[in-house]
Amino acid sequence: MGEDLGEDISRARDLLARARRVVVLTGAGISAESGVPTFRGEEGLWKTYRAEDLATPEAFARDPLLVWEWYAWRRDHMSRCLPNAGHVALAKFALGRAAETPASGPTGVISPVVLVTQNVDGLHERAARDASGPSGPAPALPLELHGSIFRDRCSRCGRSTPADAPIDASRLETLPRCGSCGALMRPAVVWFGEALEAAVLARAFAAARAADVCLVVGTSALVHPAASVPIATLQGGGVVLEVNPEETPLSDLAAVSIRGNAGDALPALLAREGLRR
Ligand SMILES: [Zn+2]
Repeated sequence: MGEDLGEDISRARDLLARARRVVVLTGAGISAESGVPTFRGEEGLWKTYRAEDLATPEAFARDPLLVWEWYAWRRDHMSRCLPNAGHVALAKFALGRAAETPASGPTGVISPVVLVTQNVDGLHERAARDASGPSGPAPALPLELHGSIFRDRCSRCGRSTPADAPIDASRLETLPRCGSCGALMRPAVVWFGEALEAAVLARAFAAARAADVCLVVGTSALVHPAASVPIATLQGGGVVLEVNPEETPLSDLAAVSIRGNAGDALPALLAREGLRR
């Protein structure tokens, strides 16, 4: 790590140390470091299909087997990816701050660190559960703006269930069905042309407006409404910190831009966090 990077990290650390509330927004960049495909450009093809041809309600209505075959493959692939040092550092940071804030219990009170992700791979949740351990405090679970590939949702009644078992997408008869109404389940992810879940979005924006710092990791922050999360923090009087290997449209608005991978930069940024007082 060069001197400039070290200086950026120490400036970012100072801002974090003074922050009472932090919102973290993550995107595909942090997952790519765990080997999760991004489905953009050349590497975005599965068989001969583009994501835009499969991740739509129309595609599911037309050919649920094909769509499930793709998601079965993705779930299988993602279940073998592991949280990287960036996911782990964020999980420990959230857990540590929660432990320092004893009265954060009552429902409705915003946690000191709220993690908002555009990723559907469940890696933040796994890192959070690992950080808490089986008998530890409640894990600091992320707000998943685009849903999770490890949940199913009924295509008719909307009932949602955790789902990490492999899917047999060879026949319609073996696809998952709703335990309440018997209709086909679908992946509980937000598809092209669908709206994000209003309640999740509202919690993310409430956290962003209340935050002293918005830490944006591995996302170009171009796609709305996620792109509006750091803007909400700025409008609320907070600052934006960015961790990204490349410059993004957000870089100009950020108090500090750390040019690096999440797996390198976040442990460096958050490691000594526990000693700040
Ligand atoms: Zn149902």
